[in-house]
Amino acid sequence: MDRYDMIIIGAGISGLSLAHYAARSGRKTLVIEQSDRTGGCFHSHRFSGEAAGFWLELGAHTCYNSYGNLLRILEERQLLDRLLRREKVSFKMLVDSRIRSIPSQLNFLELLLSLPRLFTLEKSTASVASYYAKIVGAKNFARVFAPAFNAVLSQRADEFPADMLFNKRPKRRKEILKSFTLDGGLQTITDTLAAEPGVQVVIGTTVVSVTLADGVYRLVTQDGKTFESSALALATPPPVAAGLLQGSFPELAGQLALIRMETIETVGVAIRKDALKLGPVAGIIAVNDAFYSAVSRDTVLDDRYRGFSFHFKAGKLSHDEKLRKIGEVLAVGPAELSQVVTRESRLPSPVVGHRHITGEIDRLLMGKRLLLTGNYFAGLAIEDCVSRSQSEFSRLTASS
Ligand SMILES: Cc1cc2nc3c(=O)[nH]c(=O)nc-3n(C[C@H](O)[C@H](O)[C@H](O)COP(=O)(O)OP(=O)(O)OC[C@H]3O[C@@H](n4cnc5c(N)ncnc54)[C@H](O)[C@@H]3O)c2cc1C
Repeated sequence: MDRYDMIIIGAGISGLSLAHYAARSGRKTLVIEQSDRTGGCFHSHRFSGEAAGFWLELGAHTCYNSYGNLLRILEERQLLDRLLRREKVSFKMLVDSRIRSIPSQLNFLELLLSLPRLFTLEKSTASVASYYAKIVGAKNFARVFAPAFNAVLSQRADEFPADMLFNKRPKRRKEILKSFTLDGGLQTITDTLAAEPGVQVVIGTTVVSVTLADGVYRLVTQDGKTFESSALALATPPPVAAGLLQGSFPELAGQLALIRMETIETVGVAIRKDALKLGPVAGIIAVNDAFYSAVSRDTVLDDRYRGFSFHFKAGKLSHDEKLRKIGEVLAVGPAELSQVVTRESRLPSPVVGHRHITGEIDRLLMGKRLLLTGNYFAGLAIEDCVSRSQSEFSRLTASS
């Protein structure tokens, strides 16, 4: 049986950024990942066959120069010279089966009359719907902002806490591109972190139980292997963490189990450029449709292909119905939809009062060599995940 200083369950950006901090400090670090790939929501599908060389984001697609903790890691892993500028293309809306510009859908008079409420409304206790409908006007909210926020979160955003939607970051790094991806897509980041010297990663391995005895965490995997460590981190979705902690940390498990989740069914397509009439777009925001958004690859031009990831609501359409919908929206026939790839993502779906849950989680973690990281603390964004990993690692080192 191998003994580690730190074992991390889950190899998304939360787990791998934490692994980076642990390995950098000289700790013997193991990451255990259930699926057969690392990266989690960093999923840059690299096509083979006819479309070889073309990649498409099935999950996260954009980073910003305000992502200070992520940028420091990219710097340390010599990734800054692999950043790619994103083309300046805009999002469009799909209204009654027609592609429209966002400004064409806005009522500017209503916007102007409502905006002053920005200075008086309390955000910390409001939901996205209750806060933004007052600031942009109820009609603008229903027609434009609600679908746009649903697209940002890949889920219905109405009940989401208003103060978790866009987090203020300390500062932008002006010498870095304002928004960027990397060559090969954002998965280049998680690929690099998973290959970091000092970090051992096992994939295709599900942890089924966690126990603590005499200050040692003991993990058992589905195939009956046992691993031990002096510190343990869970970087999985909250329901998985709740299940694993149920036996040894029932109070923590109880709090984690309160966090609702949303499933997103993504279908990505690569289409020959000459088959599409649609002009370049950053993406398409759907209004009252079976999908939230279609995120495009037009932000990084390719000579031969264009790509779109359609993020569908879970359980609404069969695979064939999804392909028909994609064909309708992009105005292409079935013959053009030969390069197709699918993914299922799960994201937390917090509601007002969520900070009470995370406050309780932090209180219950105090004094323990047990770390919890993920996209269910400050927010869903990549930087929120990395910042949580950093603060959890600081808590561990402060207590050692
Ligand atoms: C469609 C989409 C678009 C997005 N776009 C952006 C964007 O442009 N910019 C941005 O900042 N953010 C974006 N986000 C949000 C961001 O990508 C995610 O919040 C973040 O990547 C989550 O990382 P994570 O490591 O916390 O979780 P995940 O990426 O979900 O990783 C968790 C990992 O744990 C593994 N796991 C689960 N159970 C077990 C187990 N029992 N044993 C071992 N392993 C297990 C899973 O397989 C997974 O690999 C987007 C998210 C989605 C879904």
